[in-house]
Amino acid sequence: MRVILLGAPGSGKGTLGERISRATGFPRISTGDLLRKAVREGTPVGRKAEAVMKAGGLVDDATVTGLVRDRIAAPDCLGGYILDGFPRTVAQAEAVEAIDPARPEVVLDLLVSEDVIVARLDGRRICEACGDVYHIVNKPPKPPSVCDACGGDLVQRPDDAAATVRERLRVYREATAPLQARYRAKGTYRPVDGDGFPEDVYSRAAGVLAGEGCRL
Ligand SMILES: [Zn+2]
Repeated sequence: MRVILLGAPGSGKGTLGERISRATGFPRISTGDLLRKAVREGTPVGRKAEAVMKAGGLVDDATVTGLVRDRIAAPDCLGGYILDGFPRTVAQAEAVEAIDPARPEVVLDLLVSEDVIVARLDGRRICEACGDVYHIVNKPPKPPSVCDACGGDLVQRPDDAAATVRERLRVYREATAPLQARYRAKGTYRPVDGDGFPEDVYSRAAGVLAGEGCRL
């Protein structure tokens, strides 16, 4: 089984991917992780990608697809794998299908309303000193604006401010619409309600996967 995870920033896609990975034994493949690993190890692809990212650019399709091709060929992917953050474009979707054409596919699209995502991200506060993450409603620090763990100052990342989040979501929706349309037409598209507790979201996703014959 190839499980493809779609979901906006703040949708909880990473958390869901980890849970599905634990339940199925399928590795979760994140292209962000693959790129960081290639950079860390100083491979030819990693050195090229590092130069592009340092210049503020996006790593090209062929490079990312090459990393995914090598990762999918590893023995731990034989029984199945989860793609998180890839494909992002129809061209990348076609590339995955060309690399591994016989694999049954399920596309889980984690749907969370824009207001819920804005509330999740806008309320997030991060400790400048130790990196601990708080939330003004869901996980408030005891004294306001101070880290419980180390006493450091808590700040909001500029990316998490409401106006920025709405803009990021708009960009995400525009970029993802062609992919959603493609998978709908192909018959592998499965929307999943991403509102509520992570346990409930996981149960819904697990129900969909079980319906596709996936053992959890
Ligand atoms: Zn701290």
